[in-house]
Amino acid sequence: MLLNISELQNPPILSDMFYLTILQYYFQFRFQATFSNRKDLEEWQERQIERMLRKIQTNSPYYKEQLQKHSNWRQIPTIQKKQWMQEFDRINTLNIQKQAALKVALQAETSRNFSSKLGKNTVGLSSGTSGNRGLFVVTPKERAQWVAYVLHKILSPLQWQKRKIAFFLRSNSNLYNSMQSLLFRFRFFDLKKRFEENLLQLNEYQPDILVAPASVLRHIAKEQQAQTINIHPEKILSVAEILEQEDADFIQSVFQQIIHQAYQCTEGFLAVTCEYGILHFNEDIIKIERQYIDDEKKRYHPIITDFNRIGQPIIRYLLNDIVIDKIEPCQCGSIFQAIDHIEGRSDDVFYFKNKEGKIVTIYPDFIRRAVILPDTSMEEYVVEQLSLQQIHVFIHTSHFLQDQQTLFSSLLQLFEEYGIADIKLSFFNQMPVLKDEKLRRVKRSFEIYTKK
Ligand SMILES: [Zn+2]
Repeated sequence: MLLNISELQNPPILSDMFYLTILQYYFQFRFQATFSNRKDLEEWQERQIERMLRKIQTNSPYYKEQLQKHSNWRQIPTIQKKQWMQEFDRINTLNIQKQAALKVALQAETSRNFSSKLGKNTVGLSSGTSGNRGLFVVTPKERAQWVAYVLHKILSPLQWQKRKIAFFLRSNSNLYNSMQSLLFRFRFFDLKKRFEENLLQLNEYQPDILVAPASVLRHIAKEQQAQTINIHPEKILSVAEILEQEDADFIQSVFQQIIHQAYQCTEGFLAVTCEYGILHFNEDIIKIERQYIDDEKKRYHPIITDFNRIGQPIIRYLLNDIVIDKIEPCQCGSIFQAIDHIEGRSDDVFYFKNKEGKIVTIYPDFIRRAVILPDTSMEEYVVEQLSLQQIHVFIHTSHFLQDQQTLFSSLLQLFEEYGIADIKLSFFNQMPVLKDEKLRRVKRSFEIYTKK
């Protein structure tokens, strides 16, 4: 079934009850306690977690058991996606079976009929990589809360007036659709449709706010530069994929404004940029703990606890993203922790054998720098590690031979610093074809088992 555009232009009116719930949460977020210091914030967070635990403990068999074993929530073991999915039935408080939810979510995706509901609840699949997709369940109340929080964060009070929002997403769900019935005109652009068609419609629509994955924003910016389209969004927000600095710079130069970024995943809405374009954790809805992965205690995997997710609780959930905090406070004055950058997923750390036969790791950021710092005329790149000895470098450039030589030397130099030899580097004068996955500029596509 094709997407029915007229349905989106004339969205169904949501119930007054739902609308009121959104407004109620919006004002709650807007006027909830403000924190002048970290200590106040942390005490408040503690109370939020206690409140959430009281709500879930009767109906979540998994957490009921955990809370009987541990007197303090900090002692509950961290959980990762794999176990979280395995324990789906016992974790959720709604008595929903994984098989039933999965069936509904998959059906919704293949039929492009986005009413993926199970009872009153919305179910969906995260656009994860390597078949490792997360299944999420959201109650109507949480859906309203999510909309309210996005509004609270994305729109300043002055923008609380009718705005046209363009939302590019790979796969829709009720979670996103719900924004269309508020005070905005909302239009969803399906990324599975032909891009030229989407562009044409985007140009016609003339959005005030443009929300899209980083790679799509880049594509749109290129078309704007080539004058295929002429749009004037007042705010641009990058979602779903990690926004690399060079992409941000390019999009920024075309549209002459800060590119805002939401750091969001199935497990929660983790962070969003302030007016200075710096990401801050949303510490008023999520508690962040850190599992450091280097000796300097710089890089870490966030462990998140969501104060509001009751249907499918997120408690001490260990993400595999690698995050580095900003050390100095942000100019905007927020006490919410600022993020220096997100380095990518631990799935994308490169592994090699050095000359002594020991396993050596290189973080995605180092690979990235080895590729972007040398002077080349390359516009885009993807570096993919296929095995311990094999790397493919995809570049989009008008000076292939020259750039290939430059990057070859740069990468070789990096490997030498780590004592790594005999790496087979292959160069391609094209970008890899993305099937239905997120763009990762530095990616590892083979499994490796290492001791933690
Ligand atoms: Zn800031």
